[in-house]
Amino acid sequence: PALRPALRGMRHLTTSTQTSESGSLLTGQPLRIVAGKGAMVYDDAGKEYIEAMAGLWCTALGWGHEELVEAAASQMRNLSYYHCFAGRQVPIAEELADKIISLAPENLKGGKVFFGMSGSDANDTQVRVLWHYNTIRGLPQKKKIIARAGGYHGVTLASGSITALPHVHAQMGLPLDFVRHVSCPSFYRYGRDGESEADFVRRLAAELEEAILKEGPDQVAAFFAEPLQGAGGVILPPAGYFPAMREVCERYDVLVVGDEVITGFGRTGQMWGCTAFQQKADFLSCAKQLTSGYVPLSAAIIPRFAYEAIEASTERRGGVFGHGYTYTGHPVSCAVALKMLEIFERDQLLEKVTQLAPLFQQRLLGLSAHPLVGNARGIGLIGAVELVKEKETKQPYDASRAVAAKVVQFALERGLIVRALPHDVVSICPPLIVSAADVNEIFDRLEGALSDALAALES
Ligand code: PLP
Repeated sequence: PALRPALRGMRHLTTSTQTSESGSLLTGQPLRIVAGKGAMVYDDAGKEYIEAMAGLWCTALGWGHEELVEAAASQMRNLSYYHCFAGRQVPIAEELADKIISLAPENLKGGKVFFGMSGSDANDTQVRVLWHYNTIRGLPQKKKIIARAGGYHGVTLASGSITALPHVHAQMGLPLDFVRHVSCPSFYRYGRDGESEADFVRRLAAELEEAILKEGPDQVAAFFAEPLQGAGGVILPPAGYFPAMREVCERYDVLVVGDEVITGFGRTGQMWGCTAFQQKADFLSCAKQLTSGYVPLSAAIIPRFAYEAIEASTERRGGVFGHGYTYTGHPVSCAVALKMLEIFERDQLLEKVTQLAPLFQQRLLGLSAHPLVGNARGIGLIGAVELVKEKETKQPYDASRAVAAKVVQFALERGLIVRALPHDVVSICPPLIVSAADVNEIFDRLEGALSDALAALES
């Protein structure tokens, strides 16, 4: 029983004994969370924590929401399972697909939804749909995917290849050869001396064009990008970045896949992160907050043009589109998602996020004054601080000092759960239902943890 959580924990858990995202093997005791209510969780010793990471960026409605519990229970009583294959359909999955499409960005309004269980499988679905679509339009060789350094898209063989975090690839023969990576869009970290943000964007767009030309535009299927890079360090794109990247993609018939697994459903203060950052995505993946993390569910939103082409070709051939899971359209997951979206609208969560975001961002930016913080950044109810040894030169601490992991540990001692990410970044992404008092408490405790870590580094 110890194996699965330990492996999972290599990527996810951040406790005193776990060296953030470096992929190093974990030793010692994990934090054992046994209960949750609202934005709080409790460990096996009864200690209370503000869960300022919404678990893994997912529990939008917090823990113990009775209406979600009831939605799952009553669906289980009525129809605990059925599938969507071979002439079968699960009506509640159809209802949810319609609901998601009604909320989708304008260009995807006529689209279709394919349900899975995880963000990873949603991105795999996108790859399979892209390959299938390109094959039926006579371009079977147009298969390569371009993604960005620091991007996180999952861990399956396709999504794990599209991901570009070294510990996801190490000793596993990844990325597979159909993936190429271009630069991470962190202007703070990778902007050159004297380079303006606009110049940086131009450089990255030129790099994307070069990468497409190097492979051959007839080989490149899609450009995958999170609106903001989450697990790579909460990296927000510089102004004008996505329109510039899109322009290049359009020039070479390269489709854009927006990975909204973290940003979907209000995290940025907009329903979709792509709206917040002017990212026009042809395909869109979402998961996590869709069920508030209560049950697994992902949705790959497919544009109408691809769906219609696939449907027509499938009918012509008298065949099937050979993709789907036992749990595609699982009725319990769909019931919870529908309830989540009902509550989201009824309780005006988007408006609440918009109202709370200025306080959250003001407290976050306030951390810039702390000696350890080189950069504080965020949008809506998500943010991060990047920790450095020297602010002026942005020189990081030696990795062996595990500075972000130290901050996470001191935060735990103060009853706060935040997360360490690569390059000594500490991220904050609380449930969307937090109050202003919770936000203040999160940042008070985080500030304390930063000072504890600084004192430990200096002692
Ligand atoms: N895409 C993004 C942007 C993510 O943040 C994640 C998970 O953190 C995934 C995909 C993979 O989702 P899952 O862990 O559900 O497979």
